[in-house]
Amino acid sequence: MFHVHFELATALSEVIHDRARILTAPSVLDRLSHDFYWYSPVLRTRLADKCGDVAVQPVNVDEILAVLRFAGEREVPVTVRGAGTGNYGQCVPLEGGIVLDLALMDKLEQITADGVAVCEPGLRLGVLETEARKHRWELRMYPSTLVKASVGGFLGGGSGGIGSVMYGGLRDFDNVRGFEVVTMEEMPRVVMHEGAAVHEILHAWGTNGILTRIWFALAPAVEWAQFTAAFDSYDAAFDFTESVAVGAQWTKRLATVFEWPIPSFFSPIRHVVSKDKTLALLMIEKSQLEKLRAAAIAAGGEVTFTGPYEGPRTQPLLSDYTWNHTTLWAMKADPAYTYLQCGFSPAECRKQFALLRERYGKEILFHIEFMKNGDGVVIPGAIPVVRFTTEERLNDMIAYCRSIGVFVANPHVNYLEDGGRFRPDNIQLLAKQKYDPRGLLNPGKMISFHKQKVTR
Ligand SMILES: Cc1cc2nc3c(=O)[nH]c(=O)nc-3n(C[C@H](O)[C@H](O)[C@H](O)COP(=O)(O)OP(=O)(O)OC[C@H]3O[C@@H](n4cnc5c(N)ncnc54)[C@H](O)[C@@H]3O)c2cc1C
Repeated sequence: MFHVHFELATALSEVIHDRARILTAPSVLDRLSHDFYWYSPVLRTRLADKCGDVAVQPVNVDEILAVLRFAGEREVPVTVRGAGTGNYGQCVPLEGGIVLDLALMDKLEQITADGVAVCEPGLRLGVLETEARKHRWELRMYPSTLVKASVGGFLGGGSGGIGSVMYGGLRDFDNVRGFEVVTMEEMPRVVMHEGAAVHEILHAWGTNGILTRIWFALAPAVEWAQFTAAFDSYDAAFDFTESVAVGAQWTKRLATVFEWPIPSFFSPIRHVVSKDKTLALLMIEKSQLEKLRAAAIAAGGEVTFTGPYEGPRTQPLLSDYTWNHTTLWAMKADPAYTYLQCGFSPAECRKQFALLRERYGKEILFHIEFMKNGDGVVIPGAIPVVRFTTEERLNDMIAYCRSIGVFVANPHVNYLEDGGRFRPDNIQLLAKQKYDPRGLLNPGKMISFHKQKVTR
């Protein structure tokens, strides 16, 4: 192994002349080869020992082109990494090779007059949110890992988050305007994808191209307030939050429901939690706060917190408890917890909740995140907290969810196709065949791809 590191690093120094940006220390390689894959008890055992042979930190597109040319000539795999906050081992190199760490390519080039951020992929979403708000814009949607996660990694591996209740996910409503992509062809090149062509590369886990320059649509900034209310029953909290989420009169960024005991896991914000009660958590336009308070009380809720949102450094930042951060708090409280990623039917969800409760009891705890789908319908998305016993039991729960019409993006697999966001029209696969015919980009993560024989 030492020889592989050493030889690759020495050869790479011919194309990346700054040796300080070629990394081989085992602890550094181990860190740069992993993400939050350990969220899944299934992936935890499968991916722990996977590691790149060398990591390289390019500072511009010419260096990326040079690294891909170098890797192509030697048939060495390349796995691109943003900030490594992905949940399914998306950036864990399954076949070693080069980890392409884009953390140093983090420039915000411009925020255009019509609200589009033009940036490099390593730019952190939290930095972009802060800068955008200075110009009276803000992110349309972001993951709860806002402070750490990069724009490139979000487009490569994320789907949506805070803001999705208004603006949908990354793949909806022209939220991603375009990007430049470096290909892994025999002669790597930069190609522009815009409009519908973004979907060929979006959420393909860096398997079919490297995003190097991004046009990301923003929204006009809103003065937000944070709000929580506790309800005696899950049903009452769900009904109230749903009415705000779907109600066009409400300007909201988050509409979340946590059934008990999930709120008991949120130790730093115990003061907003009421024992044995379901918690509704919302971000709402500040001018609507009093109306929301009245609506919550009328629905039988007890308002437990209100406070301003002043950007990613707000304390407490309630979004730190939402989306997939909820699972983190649950796992901290009890490592036996894991999660699923679901979409309930707006019309059938109450029946679906009841069926799941009947079959699994409190093995599944409801955590709802309302979001808009691509048809403009606000649906109860969910990241339920699940008590893990065996992989078979987990698979049984996934199969049962699907059998009763609950969509599941399986977070316990390490390839795109079962993750639930793979395009049925196969355009990501077709792009891989075109841009990476030798299968060198993040190999093993798009299992429907098979290497083509390259004739020279
Ligand atoms: C606590 C927690 C909460 C989370 N909440 C959410 C959430 O609310 N919503 C959500 O969508 N996700 C969520 N995630 C997952 C993840 O944080 C986000 O998707 C995040 O945006 C990933 O960004 P990153 O920079 O860390 O990407 P990485 O983990 O570094 O990369 C993600 C994937 O994209 C690929 N990639 C990285 N850069 C590029 C590039 N330039 N070109 C092409 N491909 C690239 C990588 O190879 C990898 O496959 C959460 C994760 C955790 C641990």
